[in-house]
Amino acid sequence: MVKSAVLGYPRIGTGRAMKKSIEAYWAGKESEEQLQATAKAVRQERWETIRNAGVDVIPSGDFTLYDHLLDHSFNFGVVPQRYVEQKLSPLDTFFAMGRGRQDKSKGIDVVASEMGKFFDSNYHIVKVDHDENTKFSVKRNQQLEEYKEAKELGIETRPVMFGPITYLSLVRKSREASADFEPLSLLDSLIPVYKEILTSLKEAGAAEVQLDEPILVMDKAEQYGDLFKKTYEALASVGPKITITSAYGRVGKSIEYLKSLPIHALHLDLDREPKQLDEVLAALKGTSIGIELGVVSGRNIWKTDLKAAKALAEKAISALGAEKVVVSTSSSLLHTPISLAVENKLTAEQKSWLSFASEKCEEVAALAEALNGQEGAAFEQNTKDIAARREFERTSDSAVRDRVAGITDAQLKRKSPFPARREAQKKHLNLPKFPTTTIGSFPQTKEIRLARSKFTKGELSQEDYEKAMEAEIKHACEFQEKVGLDLFVHGEPERNDMVQYFGEQLTGFIFTQLGWVQSYGSRYVRPPIVVSDVSRPSPMTVRWSAYAQSQTSKPMKGMLTGPVTILNWSFPRADVSKEVQSKQLALALRDEVVDLANAGIKAIQVDEPAIREGLPLRKADWDNYLQWAVDSFRLSTSGVEDDIQVHSHFCYSDFGDIFPSIQGLDADVISIEASKADLKLLDVFKNHGYSNEIGPGVYDIHSPRVPGEQEIKDRIAAMAKVLSPDLMIVNPDCGLKTRGWKETEESLANLVAAARWARKEY
Ligand code: GLN
Ligand code: ZN
Repeated sequence: MVKSAVLGYPRIGTGRAMKKSIEAYWAGKESEEQLQATAKAVRQERWETIRNAGVDVIPSGDFTLYDHLLDHSFNFGVVPQRYVEQKLSPLDTFFAMGRGRQDKSKGIDVVASEMGKFFDSNYHIVKVDHDENTKFSVKRNQQLEEYKEAKELGIETRPVMFGPITYLSLVRKSREASADFEPLSLLDSLIPVYKEILTSLKEAGAAEVQLDEPILVMDKAEQYGDLFKKTYEALASVGPKITITSAYGRVGKSIEYLKSLPIHALHLDLDREPKQLDEVLAALKGTSIGIELGVVSGRNIWKTDLKAAKALAEKAISALGAEKVVVSTSSSLLHTPISLAVENKLTAEQKSWLSFASEKCEEVAALAEALNGQEGAAFEQNTKDIAARREFERTSDSAVRDRVAGITDAQLKRKSPFPARREAQKKHLNLPKFPTTTIGSFPQTKEIRLARSKFTKGELSQEDYEKAMEAEIKHACEFQEKVGLDLFVHGEPERNDMVQYFGEQLTGFIFTQLGWVQSYGSRYVRPPIVVSDVSRPSPMTVRWSAYAQSQTSKPMKGMLTGPVTILNWSFPRADVSKEVQSKQLALALRDEVVDLANAGIKAIQVDEPAIREGLPLRKADWDNYLQWAVDSFRLSTSGVEDDIQVHSHFCYSDFGDIFPSIQGLDADVISIEASKADLKLLDVFKNHGYSNEIGPGVYDIHSPRVPGEQEIKDRIAAMAKVLSPDLMIVNPDCGLKTRGWKETEESLANLVAAARWARKEY
């Protein structure tokens, strides 16, 4: 019998119950008991959903009130001293580690642990500090608690944890640790803690456990054979059967040592990397290790092609035998919204293409049934839906596809090299040395959001809404005149979000109402979905930028989100490559850039904050990605004359390893987040002889704090030691949409004063 499994499930709860309860607790409006009661109810709901879908192997222990990596640290008793000193309750200590805590009246002031992106997803983990003095113990046995809680509901589960090697690979090395300390060196003292937990689970009746080791899909894990051997030999002796999972990519050469571990089964991500199956099956043949096939995507929202999945599974069955095969999700379902059932604005046709977490549970169950000889109605319906979707894909926009196929090298290049463009732009823009500008957005005030919400509900007419936005833009222009900035922006008041705003005006996107996906803690986003070929029916931003330009004699900078960022922050299609989707977006943006230029906009910024986070996990895949990402940017920006100044912006500036690609964008000006980082990050620009203009952010926009004039002067002076003053522009780290007007005015006034000083000084 082939079994079905699910690796993990979203924590949000129906109606965003969990998010609401956690935020109410933080606001002091709910007690800890109320919060824990909600959590218990949500856990029950999750288990019952998975069980009712017919899944055999149901996860427990993957629930969290903030982040599951943080849970591990906290449960292991790794609580850095700065949190202990606050003398908070255990729950508040846990939250303080995740999000910091400040309550001046009680003398509480502690910053959060560092956050980091979880593999290549948009989920963020909390990386607690570890050093050579870190001690592990079982402070809280969450896996046992949840296992028993489910059992009391009559549900047998498979407890889930990070494996020890991935855990230690993801946590942070504390600043106080010695230079040569690596968290992985703590492995020997962590293994006993895992043994204790697994022993307790065995005693409570758990037959198997799931240990997540996604670190296996990274290049460095190929060197971890000894670590895996040592760890799993120790853990296997304890009792519960161990399945190691390897989500988000391929296990690559690590299969060489994985095949000799004393484990029950190895899970593979066959959604991302179906090609690895043959090699892994060949390696496992003749061993006692079974295989768990991650064929239902935990990362996207597309209906699984069950027929294709079945064919893959049959390969595994004929190699290893049905008893050794489990069909599963490619990762935890945490990256998907909980249910399609609550979406009532999507059409029946659109819904028939999609599958969210609860539907994915039904898919693994239907697949196992089919493999066990009972192709049920669900399987049959799936075959029909997949065929209909294919038909839809085929009839998508052929004009767009032809245009992508016809992209030429000339379209990827500006007319002249940068020095010639610079001369043309100088005449055209007439900016002083150390020109000042901002990254695009100005405060998104309550009034702006209220106007938008009224407009969406039909309480404000289109005409009145547009008037309100024009008034905001006019105000932004007056504000910039008053503060004395040089290169203006319109302020982006009309944008709900830098991706959704464009998605809504392009063909090929659909939007959910409740498709929330966890980004970190209680923060959830609702990514748009690319469903077909992308094109631009009409200009998207021109009217706003042109209006803004009409309000001032200063040059106005047009503002667009780049193709790679739009794609990375959406759910992409699965039927065509990301490269194709990115180029379709790039062509649509190219037309927009040309239209902006024709409307008299002399500088145009195309933001690509997500270009770095889109990097593949394996180095071998980098070149291909960077090639199409850079080409997409160039395609979108190269349709204009030399005198148009093309800007780009990146939120993080850690470009060391991808510098040639940043240079390859050939933007006339780039602005980067730099105020908090040490200036070493600018060294790469110097060392590579970067010769285009550059605006390293001179102050942090994430806090309401106003930077002093002297502080900004010092920052500029320090930067001018590394970069050529002649190429420097002066700007904040990022957009100002989350700030208030008052602090924005004070901060920018100081920025302008500092730039004026620099003009005299250099
Ligand atoms: N232009 C955008 C803004 O200012 C850029 C935001 C970003 O880089 N994340 O809001
Ligand atoms: Zn930014």
